[in-house]
Amino acid sequence: MAENHTKRWRLVLIASPLQGHMTPVLQLATYLHSKGFSITIAHPELNPPDYSNHPDFIFLPLPDNLSSQGKFTSFIQFLQALNDACKPHLREHLVQIINKQKGMRGKESIVIVHDNLMVFGGYVAGDLGLPSIIMHTSSAAFFPAYKIIPQLHQEGRFPVHDSMMQEIVPELNPFRYKDLPFINFPIQEALVSASMITPQTPPSAFIWNTLEFLEPSALTMTRKQHQVPIFTIGPLHKLVLTPSTSYLEEDASCISWLDKQEPKSVIYVSLGSVANLDVKTATEMAWGLAKSGQPFLWVVRPGSIHGFEWIEFLEEGLAIEMKMRGLVVKWAPQKQVLAHNAVGGFWSHCGWNSTMESVSEGVPMLCQPFGVDQLLNARYLSYVWKIGIEIVVERREIEGAIRRLLVDKEMRQRALEIQENVKLAFNHGGSSHNSLNRLVDFILSF
Ligand code: UDP
Repeated sequence: MAENHTKRWRLVLIASPLQGHMTPVLQLATYLHSKGFSITIAHPELNPPDYSNHPDFIFLPLPDNLSSQGKFTSFIQFLQALNDACKPHLREHLVQIINKQKGMRGKESIVIVHDNLMVFGGYVAGDLGLPSIIMHTSSAAFFPAYKIIPQLHQEGRFPVHDSMMQEIVPELNPFRYKDLPFINFPIQEALVSASMITPQTPPSAFIWNTLEFLEPSALTMTRKQHQVPIFTIGPLHKLVLTPSTSYLEEDASCISWLDKQEPKSVIYVSLGSVANLDVKTATEMAWGLAKSGQPFLWVVRPGSIHGFEWIEFLEEGLAIEMKMRGLVVKWAPQKQVLAHNAVGGFWSHCGWNSTMESVSEGVPMLCQPFGVDQLLNARYLSYVWKIGIEIVVERREIEGAIRRLLVDKEMRQRALEIQENVKLAFNHGGSSHNSLNRLVDFILSF
């Protein structure tokens, strides 16, 4: 398919400096490179990827000016500063390439593929008349759910009154008001966040790291609202094996520890790369784990518990109880952990990557969402796909939820059926397989 276009298409992928965004962008780039496209990864200076893992890519670090800006008071302020700083550098780089190619024979067609948070990519592409594709690393449901927030605000439905929280948002069935993105943000911040990441001009296409069968309603809705191609190509981690894209060092010792545990007995706990906890919540989690009687593997990111460097918050008795049954690490090779036969359940913050990684391995989940898209993902898991249990973080509740998760045969069966369907999606004629082929043809049409 791609044999004779090696030199003719340059894809400039614009990555965001967050773990859960960088990884799928590098996975997509790896796949597209295997199809013969030349790849440039443009990225802010903050949290650069490891260039040595991708010798065939060109990397373009974009000065992000962050160190001179002091502390940000909100994520959206940080994101805005990042976008503002990177935009002129990307533009300058692309203008240079375009000028250099003027009058040349056999010039490259440039296509921009930008992470949905790196909105400057779309603006620069628009200015320069280049095609741009938005890459979403979260669920398809997240998109209509944040786009509707200004409308809900105008109609007096956002911020959400306590009495409405449990009700379904009619436009977003089966999601409730309490599942809405930015629900726990101050109102102005929620509105700015929603409007900043809503594309102001239509892109040439959208990519989602999702599967058609998991989110038919959200995808149908988005297709009705946007008359551009939508490619659903997930879960990317099952398509391409990239070297580790982790910013933190993975502690591989947990795999040999898992090797010693009974099949489907271990509860794996990780709240992703961003979520932080207060010490009270962390202590409830620790007691719940200790008292559940099940072996557990708990990822506690250094600095993620307020006021502590790592797990010094565990009082002595609790630390001893925990050591008897579990292992605490700073960062795990998560995909390998979830694929391990000893893992019977995943207690997660329900980030989209974690969700995709868990459903791909048939592992049921305990859901502890913190906000943004995680609330929607938790609703999918517990109510739509029925392979997750939403938990209240209180020691006795946790103890019971862990046991329920590990013994619920029907839930495990459903998780295995989903896992099977994920596999089928990449087979010949499967939805993600077809979507990837269409994506390649679409890029070749420029
Ligand atoms: N992850 C990992 N090791 C860990 C914890 C997380 O490799 O100990 C990876 C995980 O596999 C996933 C990503 O970090 O790919 C987290 O992304 P997600 O979208 O789930 O959550 P976020 O970090 O963006 O909140």
